[in-house]
Amino acid sequence: MKLILFGPPGVGKGTQAKRLSEKYHLAHISTGDLFRAAIKKETPLGQTAKQYLDKGELVPDSVTTGLVEDILASPEAAVGFVLDGFPRTVPQAEALETLLRKHRHTLDGVINLVVAEAELIRRLSGRREAEHRSDDSEETVRHRMEIYHNSTEPVLAYYRKKNLAIDIDADRLIDMVTQAIENAVQHNRVKVQA
Ligand code: AMP
Repeated sequence: MKLILFGPPGVGKGTQAKRLSEKYHLAHISTGDLFRAAIKKETPLGQTAKQYLDKGELVPDSVTTGLVEDILASPEAAVGFVLDGFPRTVPQAEALETLLRKHRHTLDGVINLVVAEAELIRRLSGRREAEHRSDDSEETVRHRMEIYHNSTEPVLAYYRKKNLAIDIDADRLIDMVTQAIENAVQHNRVKVQA
């Protein structure tokens, strides 16, 4: 199973991606987590990424796509994966398509988690207090939403055109969202390759 979990900041992509990856034994590929780990370890990638993460900006496509390329080439990814937070721009989606073709992967579906913006802002303010993420300050959150609308939402249109996107209402209890995603996967609304 090869899936993308899509949606704005604060929608719950990370939580749901983790659950899906555990249930279906998939590699959980979160570019945000990978960047944060690199920053913590102070690697060259981390030093580059930090400048962007702290401001709520997107890390340049070339850097991000390079990171994903290495992971998609690994044996773990061959079994199946859930991408969380990638692609976030149309050029990233195009690069992903090339990479998938190269590694003979076929994308099964794009799960689009939907929550109203006011609720997202409320959630991210809570996360700022709970997790102390440097990019969850009020101003940065507003900026990340703007970037989502300008650069990331067009990715959804890209996948809708390919008939790969499925919308899931994510403004309910975490368990109910998980159930809705699993239903979509199991009832083949997300087309799963044998
Ligand atoms: P996330 O944990 O997915 O919300 O990502 C946190 C931050 O990491 C984002 O605000 C970006 O600065 C960076 N990031 C994560 N994924 C990407 C991506 N696909 N393209 C560019 N920047 C990214």
